[in-house]
Amino acid sequence: MADFEYDIGIIGGGAAGLTVASGAAQLGAKTLLIEKEPALGGDCLHYGCVPSKTLIHSARVYHLMKHAERFGLPKVGISAVDFRQIAKRIQRVIAIIQHHDSEERFCGLGAKVLFGNAVFTDEHTIDLEGNRLSAKSWVVATGSSPVAPPIPGLHDTTFLTNREIFSLDHLPKSMVILGGGPIGIEMAQAFNRLGTKVTVVDRADQILGKEDKDMADMVASVMQDEGVTFFLEASIEEVLETNGQKSVKILDSSGERRVLNPEEILVAMGRAPNVNHMGLEDIGVAYDRSGIGVDKRMRTNHKHIYAAGDVNGGFQFTHAAGYEGGIVVSNAIFRLPRKADYTYLPWCTYTDPELASIGMNEKTARSKGLDYAVWTEEFRDNDRSLAEDETTGRIKMILDAKERPLGVQILGPRAGDLLSEWVAILNGKVKLSTLAAAVHPYPTMGEINKRVVGSFFSPKIFSEKVQKGLKFFFQLKGRACSLRED
Ligand SMILES: Cc1cc2nc3c(=O)[nH]c(=O)nc-3n(C[C@H](O)[C@H](O)[C@H](O)COP(=O)(O)OP(=O)(O)OC[C@H]3O[C@@H](n4cnc5c(N)ncnc54)[C@H](O)[C@@H]3O)c2cc1C
Repeated sequence: MADFEYDIGIIGGGAAGLTVASGAAQLGAKTLLIEKEPALGGDCLHYGCVPSKTLIHSARVYHLMKHAERFGLPKVGISAVDFRQIAKRIQRVIAIIQHHDSEERFCGLGAKVLFGNAVFTDEHTIDLEGNRLSAKSWVVATGSSPVAPPIPGLHDTTFLTNREIFSLDHLPKSMVILGGGPIGIEMAQAFNRLGTKVTVVDRADQILGKEDKDMADMVASVMQDEGVTFFLEASIEEVLETNGQKSVKILDSSGERRVLNPEEILVAMGRAPNVNHMGLEDIGVAYDRSGIGVDKRMRTNHKHIYAAGDVNGGFQFTHAAGYEGGIVVSNAIFRLPRKADYTYLPWCTYTDPELASIGMNEKTARSKGLDYAVWTEEFRDNDRSLAEDETTGRIKMILDAKERPLGVQILGPRAGDLLSEWVAILNGKVKLSTLAAAVHPYPTMGEINKRVVGSFFSPKIFSEKVQKGLKFFFQLKGRACSLRED
């Protein structure tokens, strides 16, 4: 049998690669982790989740300061934002988390970390800056990069992506964001709150295309009230830069041609898998535009080469990458045929209010031709929401024809955190009656989870039929008061 230097080699030190490296090394596998950037952590830490959520929080605090009077507080005189200070704060947060994702920590766990560009020379060997390294199994966990579509003129114009946006040296006066997906929308609200005049352009008839339209429209309406301009169902005809002046020519939904002249353009129009210049074609690993093809065990067409995280074109979230990394460890190290199951993969868009989802929404249920019913509860009926003036939002619980939960969406304050109860309920197959009977602390936003289930059970419990039965068996006397009908 061939003798390889390592049991497992991982290319890419982001969420997926780090999960595999930490799991495999701690289980005693001789593990190699290769990263092309000078530091581990991947997009999430350096250009994604961490900087975006840090920026979003600064923007939220600034927004609350501007609206202090809403809370019965004196009006606050505030200065304009110095973006360099926000960028510094972002770097401070990244630096703290970086310790967790450091070369030393992984060495301590038992994994060898090397930096550079890895290129496959055969199915078990890579070339790393002139050195040949072999492993029994390989994991491609190289993530994804922002896509700049072939819009006329775009490639001759300076534009921003998630790689530049968190380290600007000043706050742009105006910004056109191309793309109304989660990244574009989160940035639109944050920059608008900080003082940038933001315009979002998207060809769809709603923002956050994966979400149910009613929920996405509520997010758009909050943002519109805060000052963001949306051009939906719009096509981008041309992007130009003349003497440093940028212009974006669009055809809006009413057929009118408009020219937008922003200081900056942020392109947030999707992601492409990082598959180039790695020799994947030479060793016959199959991939297409969406990513490297994998089965449910994350195996590529070469069974000992796995692909996990954004690069396989599945769900593009850090927690999905981590989950897939775990699947790889089970298969490659434990030799257990564990398969990925995304039925209850949750996600959240960190607008204010947040929009979180688990399982099917109405859109998915409809596309699958399922018979379903929707139960809702509004945040304006939640006492804590009223106390905190966070009343925009709704929870939607989707049940199938047998009244089993298909999914839950929450638009509301800290919706991502509120969804965690549903993560446990759905994964644990907990009965809805258990949630309805469980005492929740008062006053909390989380009571909305119990209330939506209550609204499902209430008509059954307090029905006329039940009243009649109780009256018959226990001689109850019935109503003591009725509202007079005029
Ligand atoms: C602005 C933004 C905000 C986001 N917010 C969230 C969020 O709030 N929540 C969430 O769950 N997800 C969020 N995401 C998505 C999340 O960042 C990704 O899903 C996650 O980083 C994917 O992890 P990964 O391991 O697949 O890839 P990555 O984290 O990108 O890691 C891939 C690594 O591979 C390295 N690499 C690439 N090519 C090579 C090569 N040839 N050789 C060696 N190394 C290589 C890269 O340098 C990188 O370090 C956000 C993304 C963006 C852009």
